[in-house]
Order: sequence, then structure tokens, then C-alpha cells
Amino acid sequence: MQRDPQDFDRVLSSMCTVPHPAARDAAMRFLSDNPGDPATYPVIAELEDDVVAMLGDIVGLDDPHGYVASGGTESNIQAVRAARNLADTDSPNVVAPESAHFSFPKAAEVLGVELRTVPTDADHRADLDAVAAAVDADTAMVVGVAGTTEFGRVDPVPALADLARDADALLHVDAAWGGFYLPFTPHEWSFAHADVDTMTVDPHKVGRAPVPAGGLLARDSRVLDALAVATPYLETRSQATLNGTRSGAGVAGAHAAIDAQWPTEYEDTYERQQANADWLAAELDARGYRVTDPVLPLVAADIPTREFDALRDRDWRISTTAAGETRFVLMPHVTRDTLARFLDDLDTVRD
Ligand code: PLP
Repeated sequence: MQRDPQDFDRVLSSMCTVPHPAARDAAMRFLSDNPGDPATYPVIAELEDDVVAMLGDIVGLDDPHGYVASGGTESNIQAVRAARNLADTDSPNVVAPESAHFSFPKAAEVLGVELRTVPTDADHRADLDAVAAAVDADTAMVVGVAGTTEFGRVDPVPALADLARDADALLHVDAAWGGFYLPFTPHEWSFAHADVDTMTVDPHKVGRAPVPAGGLLARDSRVLDALAVATPYLETRSQATLNGTRSGAGVAGAHAAIDAQWPTEYEDTYERQQANADWLAAELDARGYRVTDPVLPLVAADIPTREFDALRDRDWRISTTAAGETRFVLMPHVTRDTLARFLDDLDTVRD
């Protein structure tokens, strides 16, 4: 039976979105090229080199090393893996704020690394004193998040970089979601702002590339070297990715999406979605809900469970933070008209 894919109209919780039309077409053309074997598939390999350079432009890194991963989870796992492999200790630990994505517990378990999760401050950002207290001689990596999954917060990246440097650890910034919004903001989050070693930045989120297209970037080639294994039966001699065979669709789609949108269209999207987030926050506040100020296009608001459930029954795709606030992720497909229709439904169901 023919099934239709998800209609994004009522999707307010997801970090996926409608791909850019040019990206959709490019992805279709490269479905079976395997960038995991660049010597056999040189065209997709060249496109991947271009994507890494384009991502470098976006995150302020002149000579980037990296690759197009399957998503933020793979990039975070690989960043931890590289840090573990480079660290001079038998019992490495990673220090991350509690706002860090659940891919870090996965990484810690798979890699046998201790994950030290530390509290965030009153504004949901990494608490520097707590990070400093957790870091020690066995710390391989300190994590900062630039655009947290639940509240869209940006950690104090330059100060985290200083803490990492003092401990001889790597500083990883997870900008999987925020990376395509942040270049148009005054936040200090990128390789240009601080001594960042590695970064996750995902074209398949705000970048509007088709899934799967994540990005792992590193300042130093040693990071990729620390991930490489020998690949005897391929035309290519070594591979640094976690996946073996990868779909060229992610690479080609990311290339076309970034080529079409960086920087002007991405900037327009950011301006529009930040204005929509500010508007939604004001509308919810006017109705008496407690709202977390949107520093990026992501709103969290305390909506009672009964109303939340009634909205889900009306087919709104919404989710809550661990503490129970409803999240609204202002992805590129979310329009002011959609938000107005959501508020109409909210007004109908509220007490
Ligand atoms: N990092 C952050 C900050 C995220 O918000 C997400 C997903 O939303 C991820 C990593 C994981 O990305 P993926 O689902 O593409 O593996």
C-alpha cells in the first residue's frame, strides 16, 4: 500500500524539517554513491570535501577537517571517541552539562568513558563552577552546547574552552541544531570565538538537507587520524567514519542545501523564525503561561498536562522537556499562520 510521509504542517516538536527542493533533487541523484569509499566514488568524495569547507565557513573555521555523518548522534560519539583515543589516561572522563543531548550517555556507554554530567544554572546554561569542579587530570573532553535541545540555550563556550585547555582536554561544541541559526546572532559559540577543538553541526536540521546529513568538524587533523582504521579491501586505504557504507544522498543533499541558502536564505530564515519565536512567547505570556525567553528560535512554556493532551488529540505534534514544559521548535517549516492556528486550538481547549 502506498503511504504518504509525515505532513510537517502540525509538527512543532521535531528538529527535522522539510528539505530544500534543490537538496531533495541532489539527494535523489546520489542515492547509491558511497562516500565511505572515496577512491571508487570520487565525485561524491569531492562533494563531501566541499561540504566540509562550506561547514567551516558557517562555523568560522578556515581549514576544517571532518565529514558528513549520519547525524548529531554519530558526530557526538565520534568526538568522544577521538578525545578518548588522544587522551593520556587509562580512565578517561567527559564533563558535560545536564542539558547535553542523550547521544552523550550513548557515547559514554559504547566507548567505556565515564560521563560526568553537571548541573546547569538558572538560565539552563552550563554552570562554570560545576564544570570546573568536575574536571580533573583524567578529563578527555569538556562539552558545551550551542543551542540546547530543550531550551535553545547557548553555553559560555569561551569560558568552557579555557577550562578544557587548563585540563589539557578537548573542547567539543554541540551545535547540531543551533549551528545554522547562530552565525546571525551575537552569541560566542564558534571556532572563531574560542579555542574549540571539535564541533557537531547538522545540515539535516536547520540546514534543510535531507536526512541523513550530520556534520563533524575538527580544527586539527589529529582528531580524524585518531578515528581512522585501515580498510584493506577498499580502493581507499583508511576510514575515519563510524558508519562504513554511507548514502551519497546525505552528502549531495547537504551540498545543494548549503549552496542554495548560505548565507542569505539562512539569515532570512533565522530572522523570520526568531521573530516568530518572540511572537509566540509573547502570546503565551499574555495568556498567563510561564514562558522561557527564546534566545534562539525555540520556546518552552508551562502548559498544563490536560491542555497538552487535548492539543495532541487535535494532532499537534508537541513534546515536553524532562521537567514538563512544552517545547516549540521553530524549524524552517513552522509559519506564523501555523502558530496562529495552534493558539486558536489552545484557546479552545484551555481551562
Ligand atoms: N545534539 C543536539 C543538540 C540535538 O538537539 C540533537 C537532536 O535533536 C542531536 C545532537 C542528535 O542528532 P541526531 O538525532 O541527528 O542524531
